[in-house]
Amino acid sequence: MKAAVYYGPGDVRIEDVREPEPPGPAEVVIQVKMGSLCGTDASQYKAATMVPLDGPHRVSGHSGPVILGHEVVGVVVARGSEVTHLEIGQRVVPGAGWWCGECPRCKEGRINICENYYLYGIHANGGLAEFARFPAQMSMPVPPECSDEAAAMAQPCAVALHALARGRIAIDQTVAASGIYSWPPYRLRLRVDSESSPSMLSRAGSLPPSGWARSPRSTPVRMIQLPPLSS
Ligand SMILES: [Zn+2]
Ligand SMILES: [Zn+2]
Repeated sequence: MKAAVYYGPGDVRIEDVREPEPPGPAEVVIQVKMGSLCGTDASQYKAATMVPLDGPHRVSGHSGPVILGHEVVGVVVARGSEVTHLEIGQRVVPGAGWWCGECPRCKEGRINICENYYLYGIHANGGLAEFARFPAQMSMPVPPECSDEAAAMAQPCAVALHALARGRIAIDQTVAASGIYSWPPYRLRLRVDSESSPSMLSRAGSLPPSGWARSPRSTPVRMIQLPPLSS
C-alpha cells in the first residue's frame, strides 16, 4: 500500500509499505478516507523533535521512519475479537493519542496527559496510508451527516474543545487571543457555536482557515483584535 513516510526534516516520501498486521483483540484496521496535517506535522518537517528516528520510543517502542497522520477518518475493515462498539464498514476517527488507563493521570480521567502517552503518526505509525491499525478505544464513530473533510479535523477540534472547557470562557466575557494563526480563531468559533449547535464535527469543515471567526448568529464572545507582534 502507499503511505507518507517521514524520514527526517524535509524528507517525507510517498512509498510502498507493508499493509498493517491484522488487528489485535482490542484494535481495528481502517481504510483511510482522508487525513489532515497540523502544526505538529509542520514542526517535525523542520526538525525531528518528536519522531523517534534514532532509538525506540519509551512506550510505543517504535524506532526510525514513521508513517505520519494523527488526524484521519476511515472505514473499519477489520476488528479485534474484543471490539463490540464498532462495526465493519463504520466510519471512525481515531483520536490518535494513546493512553494507558492505569497511571495516576488516567485514573483522574485526564487521559490526554497520561504518563505513558504517545501519538500515532508521530511516535508510532499513523494514518497517512491506505490502511492503518489503531486501538479501538480511541476510535470514535462518525455520524452520517458529518463530511469526511470535517471528520478529518475532529482530532484538533477535540483539542480545541478540551482547551475551551479547561479555560472556562463565560458568555459575554471579553477575551484576548494571542498568537493568531489558524487555531485560536478555530477555538473561538467553536466556543461561539457551542451555544447553539450540538454538532461540532459537522461544522468544523466550514471553518475559515484564518482570521477572525464569527458566529452566524449573535456573537456571545466579544473579541479584540490586537496587532501582530513584530518578531
Ligand atoms: Zn495535530
Ligand atoms: Zn495513563
